[in-house]
Amino acid sequence: MAKALFCPTCREVVLATNEYFPFCSDRCRLIDLGKWASGDYKISSPIQDPDLLEELASSQRNKPSEDDQD
Ligand SMILES: [Zn+2]
Repeated sequence: MAKALFCPTCREVVLATNEYFPFCSDRCRLIDLGKWASGDYKISSPIQDPDLLEELASSQRNKPSEDDQD
């Protein structure tokens, strides 16, 4: 049985033997790449709160180091 997936762009069934797998065509592959490039897909949003950034920065600076004590 051939492996198959749905094309992430147009949801057509794509066999693993397809040249553009997991996309059904070069067009769908480029469309998907374009979505990533234009920021339609957001994995994580940047931290906008300056106080939170400062807090993160200082908590990393003040990491307790047992060797430096005493
Ligand atoms: Zn497609």
